[in-house]
Formats: sequence, C-alpha cells, structure tokens
Amino acid sequence: MWSTFAKVSVLNYRTSQTAVRALHRYSAVVGWITLTLGAITVAGWLSGSAALAGLFIGLPPMHGFTGLGFSLLGTCLLVIRYQRRWGEQLSLVAAMILLGFALSSLAIHAGWLDSRITSWTLSTPHGLMTAPMPITSCVVFILFSLRVLSFHRLRSVRVVDAISLMLLAASMIALATLGVSIARNDALSSIPATPMAAVLMFANALAWIAVRPSTPLAWIVVARGSGGTVARYLLLPALMLPLIYAWLIQWARNALAMDDTLLISLTAFITGGTASFLVWHVAVFSERNEQKRQELGRLTRAASTDGLTGLANRRSFDETLLHLLKHHADQGRAFSLLLLDLDHFKSYNDSFGHPAGDEVLRRVGALLPESLRGGDMAARYGGEEFAVLLSDCTAPSALRTAERIRLGFTLDPWPHRPVTVSIGVTQSRAGDTAERLIERADQALYAAKQQGRNRVASA
Ligand code: GH3
Ligand code: MG
Ligand code: MG
Repeated sequence: MWSTFAKVSVLNYRTSQTAVRALHRYSAVVGWITLTLGAITVAGWLSGSAALAGLFIGLPPMHGFTGLGFSLLGTCLLVIRYQRRWGEQLSLVAAMILLGFALSSLAIHAGWLDSRITSWTLSTPHGLMTAPMPITSCVVFILFSLRVLSFHRLRSVRVVDAISLMLLAASMIALATLGVSIARNDALSSIPATPMAAVLMFANALAWIAVRPSTPLAWIVVARGSGGTVARYLLLPALMLPLIYAWLIQWARNALAMDDTLLISLTAFITGGTASFLVWHVAVFSERNEQKRQELGRLTRAASTDGLTGLANRRSFDETLLHLLKHHADQGRAFSLLLLDLDHFKSYNDSFGHPAGDEVLRRVGALLPESLRGGDMAARYGGEEFAVLLSDCTAPSALRTAERIRLGFTLDPWPHRPVTVSIGVTQSRAGDTAERLIERADQALYAAKQQGRNRVASA
C-alpha cells in the first residue's frame, strides 16, 4: 500500500559521449573522403584521364556527374558537421544544385528533356560527361538532396528518418549488386552503381544518420547501456549482410554450380535463420533484463520492508514522511501521523516468551493494513511501536481511523491474552519538520498511556 508513495523514476536515456564523438568524427571523415573522391573523379573526366577518374586503382570510374554529385554531397555533410555560420546557405545551394542535376538527368532518361542540355552544361575534351548520370545515382541523389534540405527546413523527425532509411535501403541494394558482381567476376562497370559509388552511397547514408545522433534512428547507437553496446557491435555487420549474402549466393551458383531451386531454398534458409537467430538473441536479452528488473524490484522491496511484520520499515517511513512534508504540506494538503505502542508488552514477553511476542507483532503486521485505505502507510517504527501515515487526512478523520485500529485490537482473538494498543494522533501543520511532527505524536501517545492505555489521544 505504501508503494503509492514511491517516487516515479523517469527513464532518461544515458548516452555514451565516446560513441557520440566517434559518430561525429565518422561523419567528418566520410564528408572529406566523399568530397575528395568526387572531386578527383570530376577532374579525371574533365581532363580526359581515365586513370585519374578511376582513382589510379583500376576501378571502373564513377560517372562524371556522379562524381560531381558526391562532391556536392560531401560539401553539404562537412558544412553541416562543422556548423559554420554560412553553412546553412551553402548546403542549401549545394543541395538545390544536386537536386537539379538529378532531376534533369532523370528527365533525360524519361525522354522529357533533350540530352543536349546537359551535354552543353559540362562538355569535356573527350565528351565523357555528356550523358546524364545513371538512374541509380539520380534516385539516390534526389534522396540525398531531400535529406540535406530536410536537415534545415523540416521539423518532422519522422520524415527525416524515413528519408535516411530509404537512403540506407538504396545503398544496401547497391552494395548487394556489388557483391553479386564480384562473385560473378564480371565487368564491374555493368552494375547499376560502380563499386566506388556503391561504397560512397553506403558510407554517406550512415554518415547522414551519424551527423545528428540524437534522432530516433541513431539514439540506440550512442546509448550507454547494454542495448547501445549491442547496437555498436552488431548493427554495422548486420547492415553489411546484403553484400555478403549476395556475394555468397552468386558464388555458390558459379563455383558450386547450384541450381536455382537449391539456391532459392538456401537463400530462404539463410534469411529465416538470421531472423530466427536475431529473435532468439533479443528474446534471451529481454528475458534476462526482465529477470534482473524483477530481482531489483524484490531487493528494493526487501530493503524497505520490515522482516518480522511485513510492514514498511523505519527507513521507508522516514523517506515517506519527508516526501509528504515536501509535496503535501507545501500544497496545503494536510496529512496525519499516528504513533502506536502496544500496552504492557514487556509483561506479555515475560509471561509467554519472546516467540509468542513475535507472533503478536506479526499479527499486528496483518491487522494494521486492514484498517487503512490504499494510499496510507503503516510502518514498524521500532520494537513494538508502529507508525501510520494518512495522506490527505485531517485530525478528526485521523482520530476515527485510530479508533478503528484500537477497536480492531480489542476484537482480535489473541492467543494468550488480549493485546491492546495506545495511539497518539497528530495532523501536519504549516512549517512542520519531521522531528516536530513526531514529537507531537509522541506526546499524544504519552498522554494516552498516562490516561490508562488502550485509548487514542490527539495532540
Ligand atoms: P507500555 O504499555 O508502557 O508501553 O508498556 P510496555 O511493557 O509495552 O513498555 P515498552 O513499550 O517500553 O515495551 C517495550 C517492550 O517491547 C520491550 C521488549 O521486550 C518488547 N519488544 C520490543 N521489540 C520486540 C520484538 O521484536 N519482539 C518481541 N517479542 N518483543 C519486543
Ligand atoms: Mg514501547
Ligand atoms: Mg509498549
């Protein structure tokens, strides 16, 4: 019953500052790499150097416009990451240009625009950049530019997160096609996104989530508890699974000459198996958590309960009294305190033995709550003394409750001889301290004893 007084603890997500810093650093690194690689690619196309466009490592070069898109995107990420004063305008302009390129390229693909418009815009000595950017790049850059625009202009976290998720999905698909392509050992240039573009898309999709780790999508990664640890260790490998699966399946087809039925079955098995493993993992995790929570609840209850009577203990009583003084008395809500002391209990012990006395105290533990309302608290104050806190209760009604308790004692069929109780009652007053309130109740109790015991007296 006294749990009503328990303070409700508000769950605040605790964040790991190390993880927050790591994510910020990650978004800066991705920003610089994206800007640099994009710029090198564009320079390669403009100068007609295939080696430069291929970053000198023999990769099939990204499309020139894709390189340009990544340069713009890297710029946006960097200015947002470093929070420059002019950053917002610059990133908005860059995002608008990016959106313009992507939309016009898409329009050319759809046949709504004459391709001569873009070829005129950026013609190179070798005419390499005349074609519009590939459809994959168009879609991804439209999403990226919306993500940049939403960063400054949208208050809806849900929409921003939805765009981020779409980007992540698109880049995971791009990575998967890369996996297939590697396993097939075929010309990497024939896949929808070149290897460099696919990797940059993926890295950027994550960087745009990491750049503001407070959003719902990212908070678990920076959480300080075990959930955060799981997310930090397992989320990235899980996001890489499409690449690994796609490579594995294609490799099985080529190297092991598996037929489609077996391949589809294996794919289904791996997917189902992974999902089952994750469900199992989460289930075990939450079960352990639940058990820990229950154990903690049990310990907390034990720490505030008196072992013999099952009532609240002295510590818990003191806390509740302070809570009432602070929150009720301040708002002018009166509460009352009853102090109870068993009559001639020493002689009860002497006559029937200490265990019989304990039995009486145990019975009191059951008897007291029967006379109280749900929000009241009965505590063992010490020895054979008890305290009762009645919230929102003035003296007259507290006296009635005390009388009900006293009557309950006289009517109980005690085993050896009747047990009676004396009760001192007092109501809280403005400016009361715990000591003053207890002192008054104690004086009233003393008066009750003086007047002959088995009675109620008020301060
Ligand atoms: P009074 O009516 O004036 O209160 O007389 P009393 O004999 O009850 O006097 P007092 O309140 O001082 O009694 C305290 C006695 O309570 C002393 C002790 O034997 C008994 N007591 C205190 N704690 C326990 C306990 O945990 N178990 C048992 N069996 N007895 C206890
Ligand atoms: Mg006593
Ligand atoms: Mg006594």
